[in-house]
Order: sequence, then structure tokens, then C-alpha cells
Amino acid sequence: MTDDVATLPATDAAAIHAATLTLDTHIDIRWPDPPDATAETDRRVDFPKMLRGRLKAAVFIAFTPQGKRDAEGLATAAARAEAMLRHIRTRADGAARRFCTTADELEAAHRAGALAVLSAVENGNAMARDLSRLRLWRDLGAIYVTITHDGHNDLADAARPKPDLGDGVAEHGGLSALGRQAIAEMNRVGLLVDVSHSAKSSMMQAAELSRVPVVATHSCCRALCDHPRNLDDEQLDMLRATGGLIQITALDVFLRPAPQGGRSPATVTDIVDHVDHAVARIGIDHVGLSSDFDGGGGVPGWRDASETGNLTAELHRRGYGAREIDLLWSGNFRRVRRLVQRGAV
Ligand SMILES: [Zn+2]
Repeated sequence: MTDDVATLPATDAAAIHAATLTLDTHIDIRWPDPPDATAETDRRVDFPKMLRGRLKAAVFIAFTPQGKRDAEGLATAAARAEAMLRHIRTRADGAARRFCTTADELEAAHRAGALAVLSAVENGNAMARDLSRLRLWRDLGAIYVTITHDGHNDLADAARPKPDLGDGVAEHGGLSALGRQAIAEMNRVGLLVDVSHSAKSSMMQAAELSRVPVVATHSCCRALCDHPRNLDDEQLDMLRATGGLIQITALDVFLRPAPQGGRSPATVTDIVDHVDHAVARIGIDHVGLSSDFDGGGGVPGWRDASETGNLTAELHRRGYGAREIDLLWSGNFRRVRRLVQRGAV
């Protein structure tokens, strides 16, 4: 390093955290009757907690659980996803908050000192077999669509089938014909393809098929914790080969197995163990961070958005500098978001 001391970037963890555009790529909201996020709530994420923890940007999720795929079940899912997207959008803007959909908007909000609110759809089942809903969701501000949740849907096989819905181990052998059309349409309209929750077969096919990189927005590494929601090393290699990302998440049983009848002992240090593994395997450019707060995420050390600085501190303690911490917190995601925007027509 030849820089003068005066021009060196911040090296202290707290200063790095304060300066970094911290983005959490997967946060659930309560539905129905979501509490007012502008006030302190009993949820793990609200705007006061984001401010205290210097979590500058958050992707809030319009989630629909997998249900019966009859006309009524599909219509209910489609209506719920749309209502949730509209809710997130209409409550996003405020005195020091902005709704964002592009990497430029995200960066501008950060420069202005405003919180950035983003949205996404979890479970392509809510498309209700109508590809035009993808454009509608994009127009309502969604930046990504998670192909499946738990349970196979009409687009793809899921990592965790739902036997109570009649699921076998596999239904399509990965993506269905409709799933392939959906990925092409997502590429066309500028929606990121999220492969978290997808079966390995679906994920590998999606990564190959997509014209732009895919993202696992909330998953961990199977090499460290053998959970079906995690990505194995072959899947990580596919992300590197195609330019994609794994956003390591704070869900305890994805980080460390729970002993029989007990709770997973995972803490914030386990999150960074998974980051270290992914970085060693596929490089810093393919790894990011997420919490899955209010969807099961949260571990000692990063229990809610107000404790976000602890994760940066642990990354810094392990030797990640300001540049790497920026890449992990949002730099990589911003790069992929730009590619997806550019790929869109
Ligand atoms: Zn999820």
C-alpha cells in the first residue's frame, strides 16, 4: 500500500460498517396485518432497528406458502403476492427512506443517507401459470422471484418436497417447460432468478439456462452443514462459472445442525464460517449476506437488524477489509443487479 495515512480508507470495523452500503437480500414481513415498520415493533426488522444497526437497505419479501395447485389455490397465492408487493411499495417512501429497484437508485439512496427499501416475490407458484404476472410484479417494484418455496410447484422441483401436498422426491426432474419459459421471461423483464429453495436439479438447470447470473438469496453451504436448503460445492462451482451469487443467511439449522431435540448452537461466527468456505471455494465476487429475519433467521450476535454491525465486526476480525466487506454486503449484488437490468428489454 502506498497511500498516505490521510487517504487510507477506514480500517476500523465500526467505521467500515458506517460507510458500507449494507444490504440484506431476504427479509419476511408478517401477513396479513403487518405492523407499522416506521415504529419499533416486535419484529426483527423495522426502520428504527435498521437505523440503529446501520442496515441501509433491505429486500422485503412478498411470500406465499406452497398450497394446492387448483384454481382457487393459485388465485389466492396470486392475489396475496400482489397485495404484499403493493403494501411494501406504498409504505416504503418517507422522510429518510426510498423505494429502490435499480443498483443506481440503491447507491443514490445510500449517498443521500436514506434507507433503501426493495421488494421481491418468494414462490413462483403465485404466478398462477400466467407469465404476464412476472412483468406485473416487476412493474410493482419486485427485483427477484424465488422459483419455488418448500414443495414442488408448476415451475420446478423444490429442495424440500411437501408430502402432505402429494409431492414425491421429484416431479419435473428440475425445471418444467413452464419454468423454463418463466426464466426466459424473467431475463426479458429484468427480474433476478432466485434459486434458494430450488432442488439441486432445478438450480443447476436454471443457472445454465438463464442469460444472466442467478442468485441464491438466502442459503448456506452444504459442505459445512448437510441441510437440503443449502448448496453443495458443485452448486457453488456452478455459481462461479455463471457469475452468480450465494447470499449466506442467518438461519441456525442451515449453519449448524441441531442436536437431537435441541436447538442449533449457531451464532454470528458460523455465518462467517460459511462465508469463508464459499469465498475459499468460488471467490469473494460470488458471495453475499442475508438474514431471513422474520422468516426463521436470527442467531446470537445477529438477532435482529439493530445488531447488523456485529456481522461486519466478525468479518473484519477474520481479515476482510473495507473492499471485501463492501462486496459481501452489496457490491456483488449490485453488479449482478446491473447485469440483469441490462439484459432486460
Ligand atoms: Zn425462504
